[in-house]
Amino acid sequence: MPDSLLDRRLGPILGAGEKAIEKAFGYRTAGELLAHYPRRYARRGELTALDELHVDESVTIVAEVRSVQERAMRQRKGSILEVSITDGRGFLTLTFFNQRWRTGELVPGARGIFAGKVGSYRGARQLAHPDYELFPPDADVPGLDGSARDWVEQPVPIYPATASVPSWKVAKAIGVILDLLPAELDDPVPDDVRTGRGLIGFAEALRLVHRPAVDADWRRAQDALRFQEAFVLQAGLLRQRAERRATGAAPRVPGKLSAEFEAHLPFPLTHDQLAVGAEIESDLAGEVPMNRLVQGEVGSGKTVVALRAMLAVADSGGQSAFLAPTEVLAGQHLRSLVAALGPDLAARLRPTLLTGQLPAADRRRAMLAAASGGASIVVGTHALLGDRVSFADLGLVVVDEQHRFGVDQREALRLKGVTGSGASPHVLVLTATPIPRTVAMTVFGDLDVSTIAELPAGRAAIESHVVALVDHPGWEDRIWQRLAEELAQGRQGFVVCPAIDAKTVEDDPDALAEPAAASGSAASGGAASGPVAPPAAVLPVLEQLRAMPALAGRRIEALHGRLSSDEKDATMRAFAAGDIDVLVATTVIEVGVDVPNASTMVILDADRFGVAQLHQLRGRVGRGSVPGLCLFVTRSEPGSVARERVDAVAGTLDGFALAQVDLELRREGDVLGADQSGGRSSLKLLRVVRDGDLIADARAAAEAVLDADPVLAGHPALLSALARRLDEQERAFLGKA
Ligand code: ADP
Ligand code: MG
Repeated sequence: MPDSLLDRRLGPILGAGEKAIEKAFGYRTAGELLAHYPRRYARRGELTALDELHVDESVTIVAEVRSVQERAMRQRKGSILEVSITDGRGFLTLTFFNQRWRTGELVPGARGIFAGKVGSYRGARQLAHPDYELFPPDADVPGLDGSARDWVEQPVPIYPATASVPSWKVAKAIGVILDLLPAELDDPVPDDVRTGRGLIGFAEALRLVHRPAVDADWRRAQDALRFQEAFVLQAGLLRQRAERRATGAAPRVPGKLSAEFEAHLPFPLTHDQLAVGAEIESDLAGEVPMNRLVQGEVGSGKTVVALRAMLAVADSGGQSAFLAPTEVLAGQHLRSLVAALGPDLAARLRPTLLTGQLPAADRRRAMLAAASGGASIVVGTHALLGDRVSFADLGLVVVDEQHRFGVDQREALRLKGVTGSGASPHVLVLTATPIPRTVAMTVFGDLDVSTIAELPAGRAAIESHVVALVDHPGWEDRIWQRLAEELAQGRQGFVVCPAIDAKTVEDDPDALAEPAAASGSAASGGAASGPVAPPAAVLPVLEQLRAMPALAGRRIEALHGRLSSDEKDATMRAFAAGDIDVLVATTVIEVGVDVPNASTMVILDADRFGVAQLHQLRGRVGRGSVPGLCLFVTRSEPGSVARERVDAVAGTLDGFALAQVDLELRREGDVLGADQSGGRSSLKLLRVVRDGDLIADARAAAEAVLDADPVLAGHPALLSALARRLDEQERAFLGKA
């Protein structure tokens, strides 16, 4: 086979010097390494901005040696070589211990690529023992002859690197493979699809992306590889979809349980709830598995809609699994489902909690209830996806807040569903963060989308304010006065903190991960780094508020994920009953608590939360007829991404507008869930937000190919590409499980 090179193991191909790359990136085959595309391209003639480096970044920079100094160490025997490099704007010091010999090559005026981790010594940034590669001395001399000029202008691929495997080591390893690359590779993209779009062939694209002579080379290469990536991805998703649909599903129709539930609903359903409910009902009645996303504002009543679907399934003798992103949220969902069902229905449907942290005996009991069919509704975390969990007749999987689940988990969920009764379960996804069509297409392959745009009537307005402590340090007191004023009117309030104590951040995947990513991580080198103050924490804030004269006599309690579920329950019930005035809490309160008398929400260090999360939190107030007040307190700098996020949420109550802002402010990886940003199964050149048109085009092309050749008998290269992708995904998943 001409392209078997792609599947060859790296081990025997790479020399001893290149072995580190296998370990650093987890690649196994030559094809995987070749798909390690450059992050960007530098010029040998161009110097990199040294004044944008941050401590602890692993960097690869192009710079010139300015001065070299050697001095004896004071405490120990030996010498330090200090080399100052510059890009004309900033300076950086390289330090080497006992390496005098380097003065032979690191001479003033020498240019090269330097790589290492930025450290700090007595306030100055430095690279200790960096790896480097110098350019030949004549490369930069004015009056170059033609070939030297070419060399200077040739783009230098800069690869995603680690501290131990810098960019040029990656380049060397890839070079070894490129030298073995045949003139042609079987292309997963059929010739007519490719040439119709003016795209170059696979082998040429690989050569040019890694060894461009001019900028136009890598651009053409990226165009071809990006299309190939989208095409293979869409072909895979379409095949999955076809397989899924071919498994069929058991039709489910509402009956007595549903009627009883409707009869006892304390409110009329909104028009949108009814319309979406009808769409779901018709999906459920069909023999093709439903795969539907319901998007709707916080408080728009998605849970009721999902519950009606679960009742229809129960009416047909089936079970539903309700998947929540965290233990805490799963527990809260169970409580609100039980409450919404009422005692009668709850006794018959036996909603059951199944999470990883349950005591062993409870977990066994829950697993038994799922396996025997005794529980019609099982609420849980991804523990539900575990091998040992089985269902008697799983008819419906409801996934709440989809954006928090990684691709791997979704995949496991799908696979899990296909077992059981032999048919696929119906899938219903709920989100308050609308997902753009191309993301839905790429991440989910095939989701029908329903929207609940309208909020139940009678909701009072919510007022939002940003309290920027950097601009107005004096405002902190004002926050607590304002809270006290609301309490004086007989209302209640929440104070939300990102952490439980100085050391413990709540077990919420979004709480801290996202702002860190948004403010620029090592590789992207975005925002300014500096000493980061610890986030506001529940326990110290609780003490602070209890000691505050303005709040004297108020009952103030804490609520967070470290409390036992009995304690959480008791606290939440007491708050709902009005026996607690102020809850100081983590994001635990994000879902579930519904206290119409709670009017005020103070979110401390609001910039630590994501857009969707802030919006969700705000949705906890203004739920009754009492107007809500939400204060977003932040210490972030004006103009920072963190501040923009907070301003955006305060600026509108429209979740759809916020979702757009969120997309614009988030990095790509966050759109797809954390697992997509760095893992082996991550997207390479494709960017779902930017490449929407390309993805749609690739999907149409893949559809046409699959329509004509459903089993891809005439497209062996595409089949191999799909197999490779699946294999990588599985390995990435197993690696984590
Ligand atoms: P979401 O999950 O979309 O944020 P929920 O399903 O939790 O919203 O509903 C929010 C609150 O509104 C709940 O207390 C629910 O009982 C209530 N609710 C749902 N639908 C209606 C309706 N049609 N009329 C009045 N209240 C409703
Ligand atoms: Mg909800």
